[in-house]
Amino acid sequence: MKKLLALLLSIVLVFSLVACGENTADNTDNTENTVVETKPKTEINITKDEVQKIINGEFTAPKNVIIIIGDGMGPNDITLAEQKLDSVYDFGLVLNQIKNTGFVTTRSASDDITDSAAAATALATGTKTTNGYIGVDPSGNELLNITEIARQMGKKVGIVTDDKLSGATPSAFTTHNISRDNTSELISSIIKTKADVFMGEGYNNVFGPIDSEARAILDNEYVVAKDFKSFDTALDSDPNNQKKFLGIIDKYSSVASDHLALATQVALDRLQNENGFFLMIEGCGTDKFGQNNNINGKLNSVVTLDRTVAAVLKFMKENPDTLLIVTSDHDTGGAKLPKGDESLSSLLTTKEHTATDVRVFAVGKGSEYFASKTVDNTDVAKFLIAAVKGE
Ligand SMILES: [Zn+2]
Repeated sequence: MKKLLALLLSIVLVFSLVACGENTADNTDNTENTVVETKPKTEINITKDEVQKIINGEFTAPKNVIIIIGDGMGPNDITLAEQKLDSVYDFGLVLNQIKNTGFVTTRSASDDITDSAAAATALATGTKTTNGYIGVDPSGNELLNITEIARQMGKKVGIVTDDKLSGATPSAFTTHNISRDNTSELISSIIKTKADVFMGEGYNNVFGPIDSEARAILDNEYVVAKDFKSFDTALDSDPNNQKKFLGIIDKYSSVASDHLALATQVALDRLQNENGFFLMIEGCGTDKFGQNNNINGKLNSVVTLDRTVAAVLKFMKENPDTLLIVTSDHDTGGAKLPKGDESLSSLLTTKEHTATDVRVFAVGKGSEYFASKTVDNTDVAKFLIAAVKGE
């Protein structure tokens, strides 16, 4: 019934847009910032009832621990995506259905405004560091990260991003380096950590800069899919899940997309095992489009992330021994909420990161810890690490 109503409304909308002709120019400032009005199809179908049932279900001690990070996703990005976009679910964002939600402070050891390297180090290790540093403290000492701890606990590890695999966030969740800019060192050392699942964008971003030792690991121990279309064929060659998997996925997109959710479903399938797993998923359009002052791309990237949350919740329906945390490393763009008929394109106030607290959403046993309060990004890490350790 709702779908029929939405269809009728969109028909009315199309006719009224046609009827208004040039008069619509005032709310469509330029092509980059024009909000897509037609509801894009998604394969990640979920209803409000289903979401509610999953969120309010009985959870057991988490064997599987998942963090989804919207890079640069500020609190107002989430509010605006629900208010302004037709590409959200009929009931709005899945994220906004989650009841255990609070805020996270993000400052780094060196600056009020963190960069992605220091923020991801804090989220992965529970220790603050200097901007630019990857998995090391301000003195350069290596910090034990959550994927290393998961390994010690006998769990599988997955890293999924629609950015480069050598980006600051996947780097800080896997490896250690004094600089986020040492790309070839980073990607080689990331591969050498031998996560059970790696997914990132750009085949050449992995195979271009790696050293011979990392190359040999990929050749001998991994099934490699060069793009999402070849996932099935590649995985058919390893039906018993005996090898590790590197999948190249589609890059972040300015249009609300299923790419990250579908990749996540494959990752969940590969990672499931009796000892559990730790999975980090990063969607980076919320950062990249913030840097380009493209609010339409930014808000659509919130929807891309939201569909990924839906995919994980559907997994949790069958696997209540799973904990999910959704948060951001920092805000990018400083989006403000509109006053009156203020146009969407004027709402981003900067192309830089800001010091704004970000949101956190939690589902699973113990997730009420986050309800209606503000914690630090190192507290998020400590909570996740305790869960991985079974404490
Ligand atoms: Zn970031």
